[in-house]
Amino acid sequence: MDGLMMNRPLLQSGLLDYAADIYPAAEIVSRRVEGDTHRESYVEARARTVQLSFALEDLGIRIGDRVATLAWNGYRHFELYYAISGIGAVCHTINPRLSAEQMIYIVHHAADKILFTDATFVPLLEKLKDHLPSLRYVVMTDRAHMPENSLDALCYEDLLAGQATARDWPDLPETTASGMCYTSGTTGDPKGALYTHRSNVLHAVSIALSLSADLGNQPRILPVVPQFHVNAWGLPFYAPLAGASLIMPGPHLDGASLWDLCEEERVESAWGVPTIWQGLFAEIEKRGAKPSSMRHLVVGGSAMPRSLIEGFEKLGIEVNHAWGMTETSPLGSQGSLTRDQRELPFERQMALKTTQGRRVYGVDMKIVDEDGKRQPHDGEAMGELYVRGNVIASAYYNNEEASRKSFDAEGWFGTGDIASISPTGYLTLRDRAKDLIKSGGEWISSIDLENFAVAHPKIAICAVISVPHPKWDERPLLVVKPISADDLPTLDEVYELLAPHLARWQFPDDMVIVEEMPMTATGKISKLNLRKLLKDYVLP
Ligand code: ADP
Repeated sequence: MDGLMMNRPLLQSGLLDYAADIYPAAEIVSRRVEGDTHRESYVEARARTVQLSFALEDLGIRIGDRVATLAWNGYRHFELYYAISGIGAVCHTINPRLSAEQMIYIVHHAADKILFTDATFVPLLEKLKDHLPSLRYVVMTDRAHMPENSLDALCYEDLLAGQATARDWPDLPETTASGMCYTSGTTGDPKGALYTHRSNVLHAVSIALSLSADLGNQPRILPVVPQFHVNAWGLPFYAPLAGASLIMPGPHLDGASLWDLCEEERVESAWGVPTIWQGLFAEIEKRGAKPSSMRHLVVGGSAMPRSLIEGFEKLGIEVNHAWGMTETSPLGSQGSLTRDQRELPFERQMALKTTQGRRVYGVDMKIVDEDGKRQPHDGEAMGELYVRGNVIASAYYNNEEASRKSFDAEGWFGTGDIASISPTGYLTLRDRAKDLIKSGGEWISSIDLENFAVAHPKIAICAVISVPHPKWDERPLLVVKPISADDLPTLDEVYELLAPHLARWQFPDDMVIVEEMPMTATGKISKLNLRKLLKDYVLP
């Protein structure tokens, strides 16, 4: 028997309408490409979003059409999220750090009709334009800042001018596609996740619920995680729901710029990958103080080393270690402490904080061995992590082959991550399946080695990869980018750091020093390129 309650669709437009109604004073503050700082309330954001939605319709955009963005975090990018999806079209965010080849591939694969770009990327697009003959361009700026270009590009503010500022949004089915993001394609072509209104709204609710104790009332949040990567981890949808203010950093993401922005805009919570927090931490050490309002960090994308978590916690900045992927919207697990855990001694709290936390409501998890057999959640057994839930992709966009490989017979999504889960639900990522090191039939986790080694005061960043070995098949090799080329760490010093935590046979056999670490488009160490770089390396 069906119940008798209204069945109103969960639509993204409802989030912005809600904020404009209930939190008119909350704001979006943006460091603009134009060089200045811009502020708008959710009331203004809604009015401009409506104007933009009419402009999109005038340009011929209809339900289901894909509209691309190539832009930093900022208010216009926020407006695009809501205007495009508000009329039932799909906002396809493109990562500007992809290779030209990958960018051309995904614009074709998504069949984007219009691309909105920050002025920064106009020269890049001019180089690609011959490969994208049917694409139209809009530069996200005003007439006075419009760059000269050969793209025949329209101007964002011109499009808005004169459009009406109020409308009722169309009533769409909640399963309508609203956004699209391609994985960075470290193996093979990029694969597209296609979010729905329902999944993005539920994801926003999930952030609000699971992080409420840490975020507090109407927090001021800095999304360093880009809007071009997995919807800036859902913040543009969570913030209006919760009346949070968004402090959008624009293009400058170095430690000094972030420190200044956090101080000037009283940022309380900041979200991003560990490399960003390494930069901010170095700046804090240099200035001898943290930005005065900062009290909370969300970190994910790769494992946050214990040394860095400890550093922030000792400054009174709570660290939430979160795990997720493009395919999981992305929040799958996070490490908020419960009431009781907040009473635990520092060491016990740190042991929890270095894990990837616990699954959020609505995300189910299992770990399985190579035959697909479920492994116990005893904190010891490792297996590939599979997830399912309302915010998890059910297939890749227009890619049957990748979809077939990534989902099991029961419809669970295989993450490619190797993890263990404790009896109380704590997820610990041990490696990407393809990065695990198999030495004499035993697995060695590269993440564990990296986390302990990076605590060395002379190491800036490090990575562990496997290298072939005649007897053990594979052995771990430590690759280090030192803080100073004149003051190098020794392998013995690294061993001293590892000794309390790991068995001797798990230690890396050798250490290689590099000047630069190859990085991926999402700010992670590219082990693929590192392996290429060291393909001729032979163990001593
Ligand atoms: P990409 O496009 O680089 O694949 P994703 O953000 O989708 O970007 O990457 C997801 C992967 O990042 C996960 O499968 C996992 O391997 C890694 N990852 C994410 N969060 C964490 C974390 N907190 N600790 C360790 N690894 C993480």
